[in-house]
Parts: sequence; structure tokens; C-alpha cells
Amino acid sequence: MSNIPVPDYADKVFIDGAWRKARDWLQVDDPSTGAPLAKVARGTSGDIDLAVAAARASAWGKFSALERGRMLAKIGAAVLGYADMLAGLEARDVGKPLKQARADVVALARYLEFYAGAADKIGGETLPYMDGFTVLTLREAHGVTGHIIPWNYPMQIIGRSVGAALCMGNAVVLKPAEEACLTALAFAEIAHNAGLPAGALNVVPGLGEEAGAALAGHGGVDHVSFTGSLAVGRLVQTAAATHVRPVTLELGGKSPQIVFADADIARALPFLVNAVIQNAGQTCSAGSRVLVEQAIYPQIKAALAERFSALVAGPAMVDCDLGPVISARQKSIIEAKCAQADREGLHLLAQGRIAADAPAGGHYVAARLYADVAPDHPLAREEIFGPVLCVMPFANEAEALALANQVDGGLVAGVWSADAGRLMRMARGLAAGQVFLNNYGAGGGVELPFGGVGLSGHGREKGLEALYGFSRLKTIAHWHG
Ligand code: NAD
Repeated sequence: MSNIPVPDYADKVFIDGAWRKARDWLQVDDPSTGAPLAKVARGTSGDIDLAVAAARASAWGKFSALERGRMLAKIGAAVLGYADMLAGLEARDVGKPLKQARADVVALARYLEFYAGAADKIGGETLPYMDGFTVLTLREAHGVTGHIIPWNYPMQIIGRSVGAALCMGNAVVLKPAEEACLTALAFAEIAHNAGLPAGALNVVPGLGEEAGAALAGHGGVDHVSFTGSLAVGRLVQTAAATHVRPVTLELGGKSPQIVFADADIARALPFLVNAVIQNAGQTCSAGSRVLVEQAIYPQIKAALAERFSALVAGPAMVDCDLGPVISARQKSIIEAKCAQADREGLHLLAQGRIAADAPAGGHYVAARLYADVAPDHPLAREEIFGPVLCVMPFANEAEALALANQVDGGLVAGVWSADAGRLMRMARGLAAGQVFLNNYGAGGGVELPFGGVGLSGHGREKGLEALYGFSRLKTIAHWHG
């Protein structure tokens, strides 16, 4: 598996159902070794123009809902047929442990399966109106949707965003991240070979400020779905505003898990750890803050410390607890934040280790657990995007809620308690797009609408809700007397 061949995408963009030659290329490194992994195309604004034109001309929008569903089901099945190849590529490209990359392939297929089933079940309504009228609403595709995605979960985000857009009959232009775009390109070919018509899915890799900016501000794009950082999200929304295009923004967060003294601690502990080490903490919805009721604070600290001390980071293909982070730059950002915390005397309660045989050039960061972090410290407020967990105490429900909601935004929150009333009070009070009660992440939750509040973004992807975002409503009022 570690020898899985990396396709040569050096000069290839996927437009109108075929590979087209790109003018320039970018070097992509293997996070596990730091060595060159592949060359990928550096798409230009000209490539984006061609991709948008191909999408606009695609026959996909003419497919019936039934035909679209069947096609998505075929693509989902084809994805599973390439599971080993896709998982190997994703693990090497992103640096995530192979078993996590495998789970991402399964999730991609599952999104396609879900949206395949949904395609002919989403419709409009008839509305009561004045005598002599019949009024109905139609759900129509936007037309061409632009998708700008990050490097941390390429396949999962393609599934939830491209899958839903295609389901509603949109033709797609996808700009994957420059750091990890191999599976996006492989997926384009798999989908095309499964029968997706030309122009329905176009993939133009390249730099954010070039291909990404060209897509975000393109007048031929009818809707933009962006997943990534707050800073770039602002740029994308501003660019789309030029043509008054709707935008979905899926940004970052500082998601809390709140543990009350009556919680099932044995059940909670693996979730508290996994939620922040999955993908080496490079997850928008990483549970990066754990708030614990005073009475069990010492016990939870001790249990977390034991687990963090045992965590090992190593090469993706070796399947340790954590892989490397995506790049030397990301590693130095994480380490700088931790070094600052250490200089300020924060309590580093436990630290994992890096596998002794991990290649020296790989971008490894040992998992870190900080305790007693003051609520106003940057470590407790700012997204780190690395395997760093803060644990802090609270006295009562009101304080737990205040601490959880102190950051401006919210994607996900978890609450652990045996008290059903408290769970529901907390769920209603938390500023987050998703709240998990006595669980966290719900195993990926293809069916569950996902998105942020405040600076974590707006719009919802996943579940049926995504299909409302990837379509627009037309109201037809028929006067027939
Ligand atoms: P990023 O914003 O730097 O890049 C994301 C994408 O935007 C990439 O494809 C990049 O090429 C593109 N881009 C960069 N500059 C651009 C520009 N000027 N115009 C248009 N596109 C541009 O984010 P990142 O560092 O790759 O990802 C990390 C961030 O993404 C974190 O903040 C994380 O929380 C967030 N994220 C959110 C979700 C979610 O679902 N909410 C999921 C994954 C990651």
C-alpha cells in the first residue's frame, strides 16, 4: 500500500470530461517524509473560464431527478471499487493515518449514496392562496456551482458539497486545495468513467489567490460553496458579492465538549481524546476545548493525561494515533502557539510522542494537553488546527454555557451528562450548528445538517438541508378563475 503509485497530474486540469493541458505546475510534498510526492497543475483564471463554460454547457442539468440519482449511485459504487487507491492517495497526500483515509473513502461513497436516494424526493409545495389561483413552488438548480475546498478532508468535503450540488442538477467547478488535490483529480476521472456527462464536474487545482479567486468572483458561477479559513472566507464572500451570488461558508471553530459530574466518564473519554487528535487536530469541528465540572476535574485531568502520554504520531501508512500535519508551515504555526503558551507558564499536563522511526523530514507534532487554561488565553479561544487540547474547570451550568459560548462562532459542541433536562437546556443555549449529547461527531453524520454560527460561517451542508442550499425556489402563481 505504501508503494501506491501517484498518478502524474503535473499538467492536467479536468475540464469538459477530459484532461486538458495546464500551463504550469506546483510541487506537492509528502507530509510523512517532507519529500516531493507529486506535481500538480497550477490552474489559471483562463482554466476557470473554460471550466465554467463547460459546466454551463453541460447536459447534466437536463437529466431527470431519477437519472441524476442513478448516476450518483453508480459513481458511489465506483468510488468503493477504487477504495484502496483513493485511501492510499489521500493518506500520502494529506498525511492522515491510512485507516482514517479509508473512512473518508467510505464517507465519500456514502454521501453519493445518500444524495442518489434523495435526488427524486426533493420537490416544491402547493400553497393555499386566493380563490381562482393554484400556487406552487419549484426547486431549481442554481446552474453552475463553484466549490473551493481545503486540504484536510478532500474526499469527505467533495462528497457533502459536490455530491449535494450534483444531486440538485447543478454543474460543478471544483477548486481543490494546492496542498492536497490528488483524490479530487482521481475522483473526477472515476465519476466521468462511471458515466457522468462532460462538464458536470470540472476540477481545476491551483493556488487560492489565482484559480480560487477567479472562481469565487466569476460572473458565470451561480453559487459558491467555500470550506476553509475565516480570512479566505471573507475574501470569497466579498468576491461573490460582485455578482451578488449566494455563498455557503464552512469555516473554523473552537468547539467545546462539556462534561458534567454525572456523565458516563468511561464512555466520554475516548470521544474527548479522538475529537482533537483525529487528522492530527486539523479538523474544523475538532473538540479542542474540554470543560469539566469541578467535582470530577481532577479525575478527568488524570485520565486525559494518561491517554495523551500514550499517543504516538507517525507516518500515515503506519497508522499511528496521529499522522503528521500537512506542512512545515502548519507545524511551525502550531509549535509557535504552544511555545508561546509554555513561555507564559501554561500548565502542559501531558504530551504524546513522535514515533522513533518517523522520517526526520516529516511534519510531526506530538499531541499536547494543557490544563487549567484561563478562559481569555488565546489557547482557549483561537483555533490551533493541531493536536492540542485545553481542559478547564467550571462550577455550574451557567458558567459552562458562558465559557462554551465565549468564542465568536461555533460549529459543534458536545455535552456529557445523565440529566436529560440539563442536556436539553445546554443544547438550546449553545451557540453551535450541531450539538451532540452524550456523543460527539455522530460518526461523520452524512444525514445530519452541518454548519456554523457567527464567524464559523453560514449555510448548511450535509443531510437533506444541503439540497435546499444547492437549489433555489421559484414560485408559480396560476390564475385559472
Ligand atoms: P484556506 O482558507 O487557506 O484554503 C481553503 C481553500 O481556499 C483552498 O482551496 C485555497 O486554495 C483557497 N483559497 C485561498 N486563498 C483564496 C482566495 N484568495 N480566493 C479563493 N480561494 C482561496 O484554508 P486551509 O488552511 O486550507 O484550511 C484550514 C481552515 O479550514 C481551518 O480554519 C478550518 O477550520 C477550516 N475548515 C472548515 C471546515 C468546515 O466544514 N467548516 C472543514 C475543513 C476546514
